[in-house]
Amino acid sequence: MAASYLGSTMVAVEEKEKVSANGVPLFKHTVTKLDEKMDKEVVHEFGGPVGVCAMMLGFPSLMYYFWVCLEYHQGKLITPSYSLEGIQSFVLDDIIHKVVTGAFPHLLAIKIYMGFVLYSAICAYTLPGPVVEGLGLPSLKGKKLKYLCNGLSFWYLTLVLSAVFHYTGIFRLTLIIDNFGSIMSVAIIWGFTMSILVYVISGIMGKHHRMSGNFFYDFFMGACLNPRIGHLDLKMWAETRVPWPVLFYISVSCALKQYESKGYVSAPTAFMVLAHFLYVNACQKGEECIPTSWDIFYEKDGFMLIFWNMAGVPFTYCMSSIYLIKSEQATGISITHSLPYTIFLYILLLVGYYVFDTGNSQKNRFRMEQNGSFMTRKAFPQLPWGHLKNPSFIRTEHGNLLLTDGWWGIARKPHYTADLMMSISWGLITGFGSFLPYFYFCFFVFVLTHRVSRDMERCAKKYGKDWDRYCERVPYIFIPYVF
Ligand code: NDP
Repeated sequence: MAASYLGSTMVAVEEKEKVSANGVPLFKHTVTKLDEKMDKEVVHEFGGPVGVCAMMLGFPSLMYYFWVCLEYHQGKLITPSYSLEGIQSFVLDDIIHKVVTGAFPHLLAIKIYMGFVLYSAICAYTLPGPVVEGLGLPSLKGKKLKYLCNGLSFWYLTLVLSAVFHYTGIFRLTLIIDNFGSIMSVAIIWGFTMSILVYVISGIMGKHHRMSGNFFYDFFMGACLNPRIGHLDLKMWAETRVPWPVLFYISVSCALKQYESKGYVSAPTAFMVLAHFLYVNACQKGEECIPTSWDIFYEKDGFMLIFWNMAGVPFTYCMSSIYLIKSEQATGISITHSLPYTIFLYILLLVGYYVFDTGNSQKNRFRMEQNGSFMTRKAFPQLPWGHLKNPSFIRTEHGNLLLTDGWWGIARKPHYTADLMMSISWGLITGFGSFLPYFYFCFFVFVLTHRVSRDMERCAKKYGKDWDRYCERVPYIFIPYVF
């Protein structure tokens, strides 16, 4: 058979190979020699050891700085005066003193955050759900790990329990925003603790993978690819079961707080609850697609993923919701906008979500079909065009197929563009009174462009001239005819 060609229609004619019911050929090898070589290759990212140390110190410091700006200054970015005493007083009085008094990790905060973490882990271990195979792992000679995808039962159970707890007074959800700083401190401490535990236990168990030899860099990138407790995959659990639900409940807490004090929930506050609901729901209802994603098959479980999932995502991506409530508490006036502006942002969010959901589904379902792990699910909502019938693709010499149909025939990273559309809408809904609600968008632009360059470099190495053909076939990365 010719080494590569475009389209799916010739498959059955030229060679009797196994194809899925949807006409997608199954991947013949589990892994190739090239996969093994690339999987072991250490590439220094993020400025190497110096860069990652700066990030490990910088992330928590920045989170506290943002918290102080939101909690005490209505989102205004505070700065020290340009003198030694000015800087000293800024660090000691404006930041450290406020963190110690207002964000101390007290017992209630520990119970709230660690209680949820524990509950979420127990659910992930015990609740029913389909079992899905991941991609063949080069480090395990092509073995495919199994993932129990019970995110949906966890999510629905959590929604019901939280409503019952709130209305019966067992746990008022407004306690989250009332103790926000302290809960964030617990999350930060847990982010470090879990990173250390995973790193040390991986070392003791000899589960090192792709190590650079520099302690700080390895701690940041991680030692183990797939740390597990029994059948609980810690990386997948940490990616989906803690950050997004916590983020959602922070926004719900802000909305309930507003309702308690004002008797209504404003359109911007409701917008943030909807935005975070869509994101967390997407992660749970499409969980079976996640084992074939880049984080699961390639990234190790180090500080970068653990800290960011346990603390960074929920406590920085929520700044729009926090800004809305803090600004209202300080001025007594809720932030609102004109009807056309508000409608425009709701449409931007929903269109972004549609492309994000269907874009991820199209590619991941295609990859699942190729992997032989595809399954049909009725999890709500199943959007039209989420699964491509008889899709076109490029066959590569490596053996993998590159999808060139649906959103993937229009751009190489359509799901990133959609994610960015949603993230800018999270900022715009707060107006223009503070930079902080736009932090997520700015940070995300950096994260995704960096991810694109890493991914493109890796794919160019992996697929060689087939990658060039793919780039010719789909020339734009984010937006057709623009970039
Ligand atoms: P991708 O879904 O882009 O996965 C990249 C891999 O997919 C590539 O390495 C390649 O793997 C494969 N691939 C690329 N193009 C094709 C194609 N045309 N056909 C088939 N396979 C292809 O990566 P992410 O995991 O980064 O993104 C998943 C989602 O998660 C995105 O929507 C993103 O926005 C979101 N995300 C959100 C974050 C947040 O903080 N909110 C952070 C990071 C991601 P192979 O080598 O196997 O071919």
